[in-house]
Amino acid sequence: MSLKGNRTLEILAKAERGGYGVLAHAVYDTQMAVGLVRAAERAQSPAILQFFPPPFMYGKASVPISVHLDHATDPEQVQFALDLAEKGIPLDSIMLDGSRAETDEENIALTKPYVELFHKCGVAVEVELGRVEGGEQGLRGVSNARPTDPKKVRAFLEGTGADIIAPSIGNLHGLYIKSPSFNQQILKDIHSEFNGRIPICLHGTGGIPEPLFRECIKNGVSKVNINVEGRTLYAKALGEGLLSKPFPEAVENATEVFTKECERFMTIFGSTEKAGSAKN
Ligand SMILES: [Zn+2]
Repeated sequence: MSLKGNRTLEILAKAERGGYGVLAHAVYDTQMAVGLVRAAERAQSPAILQFFPPPFMYGKASVPISVHLDHATDPEQVQFALDLAEKGIPLDSIMLDGSRAETDEENIALTKPYVELFHKCGVAVEVELGRVEGGEQGLRGVSNARPTDPKKVRAFLEGTGADIIAPSIGNLHGLYIKSPSFNQQILKDIHSEFNGRIPICLHGTGGIPEPLFRECIKNGVSKVNINVEGRTLYAKALGEGLLSKPFPEAVENATEVFTKECERFMTIFGSTEKAGSAKN
């Protein structure tokens, strides 16, 4: 393979011709990567995202791990993911969130063309039918929840061509003010309609009790989205750790806190020790 077009070499060749240097700053986590790219964009400067081997090697996993982009709502976000996929850097799956559409037909019209393009790159697509209310950090808020009608799921999946369904069952994004009340019948109906062949994803899980997770999984949910718990514990551990410990130690301790929280969920969800079976 030719190195023509190699970005490191192109950046450095231009720097040499122009007589300037390029910042190759070591990054330890995603936020540092974000900061470096942001600085480069503000300064309109090239930069090199530089990893040291330990964080780089985190990607070498002995268990099945997939990468998913959640709640892609804006054409710009979807196009960016598509551009990467077409260059051979695909995500494994993406949620095309057209739940703001007023009708199912409008949602299908928005989503279907992208589903075809993502499928060409081997990327699976998740869609939401109905509307899950609320907002999450970094996402726009949504009001006027609409529960999913299980009878419409088949037509919706055929219309969009999507692979994973995220229903609205009384779940909401953000934290629950009253204790959550989920319509389990919607999950049971979708699960029996497809005989378990269409994965069901549960959004809006912030602070819900353990038995409710188990009940949803028993009734057909296989993808369980979590945002609040791990993030809150990680942020607290990192913030406190950085005040008293060396940076790598604070990051490592916070990472362990996050890891333990993920392990707790894996136990609740029953996926512990199942890594081998996913390959069969
Ligand atoms: Zn969500």
